[in-house]
Amino acid sequence: MTNDTNTTNATTQSTNGTTRTVAAYAAQRPDAPLARTTVTRRAVGEHDIVIDIKYSGICHSDIHQVGEDWGTGIFPMVPGHEIAGVVGEVGPGVTRWKVGDRVGVGCFVDSCRECDNCKAGLQQYCTGEGGAVFTYNAMGKDGLPTYGGYAAELVVDEAYALSIPDNLPLDAAAPLLCAGITLYSPLAHWGAGPGKKVAIVGLGGLGHMGVKIAHAMGAEVTVLSQSLRKREDGLKLGADHYRATSDPATFTELAGSFDLIVNTVSADLDLSAYVGLLRTDGTLVQVGMPEKPLTMHPYPLATGRRSLAGSMIGGLPETQEMLDFCGEHGIGAEIEVIRAEQINEAYRRVLDGDVRFRFVIDASTI
Ligand code: NAP
Ligand code: ZN
Ligand code: ZN
Repeated sequence: MTNDTNTTNATTQSTNGTTRTVAAYAAQRPDAPLARTTVTRRAVGEHDIVIDIKYSGICHSDIHQVGEDWGTGIFPMVPGHEIAGVVGEVGPGVTRWKVGDRVGVGCFVDSCRECDNCKAGLQQYCTGEGGAVFTYNAMGKDGLPTYGGYAAELVVDEAYALSIPDNLPLDAAAPLLCAGITLYSPLAHWGAGPGKKVAIVGLGGLGHMGVKIAHAMGAEVTVLSQSLRKREDGLKLGADHYRATSDPATFTELAGSFDLIVNTVSADLDLSAYVGLLRTDGTLVQVGMPEKPLTMHPYPLATGRRSLAGSMIGGLPETQEMLDFCGEHGIGAEIEVIRAEQINEAYRRVLDGDVRFRFVIDASTI
């Protein structure tokens, strides 16, 4: 971390003072292995900063999008929306940042800035034309595709970068930009805290952040995992209880017990069974985004005035609030740092459930 401000990306070069050619890892077509390439970043505008990317997390959403699980993607695709780095250059009108600042970028790099949601700081739910501009696999306002964080540098509007607290190492901070905020937002919105019983379904990248954050908020936390394989880890992360969903007794013994359940699972689940674990007026928040629709009978909802809800990442102010909260509580992700040439192997390991708990690419190896 001490070297953060002193290194430069040797792989990066400016071209004729306008655009720049940046080393990156891309999938050239759906499901293709990721391989080294270059992408063009726009010229630094009045309010742009250049981020020397230091670390980039691998989110399961990257794997969904490279595999077109959610529909047609834009290829070549450079994934990556858990970006941590250092400001390397600033445009003439930049006021928020200076060279050397530790910054992060999450899932979006722009939005309309005028709709009610943008004005309320909920840029992720932008209702302006085209909605929020996602960090990759989207079209930017300039009509060009966006390319994400598996790259040496990123050019981004200063308003869409967040400050990473000094006490958090950049590698462990990177996953906060998606996994962290995706759990922080529903936990905060539905009031996780002292006296509240919270269950986190799935102990992966998102789930493990949920355990750490819900615990730091003061809630009583239960992990609902497929097996007890990761039980020791879960308890160390701050869970009070750890139950296997493969054991039918979990669903009878815990029936009607949770105020809030956050489901991070990336696959099909029997939602009715999980809704039955909520107490009266409890809420199950879906953050996992499986390929196929989830279905359930309304009976378990109606019999306890329970709610089924969804949540997507978080807006800029809340993402900064989450980073500050994580700084105060010393919360980073549990990570395995990999070299860029290990990305495809890491994807396979995520799909096999063999990750504790987030892979983070060392961008100096790109
Ligand atoms: P991940 O690291 O792969 O974790 C998912 C966890 O779900 C696994 O560790 C596993 O936990 C559990 N799981 C996987 N397959 C399962 C199955 N067939 N049945 C039951 N449980 C299963 O993935 P992630 O990066 O945390 O992402 C999780 C999901 O959230 C993805 O769909 C991703 O696209 C989505 N996401 C949504 C948002 C949002 O804003 N809403 C943001 C980021 C990601 P156990 O081994 O403990 O059971
Ligand atoms: Zn993500
Ligand atoms: Zn908007």
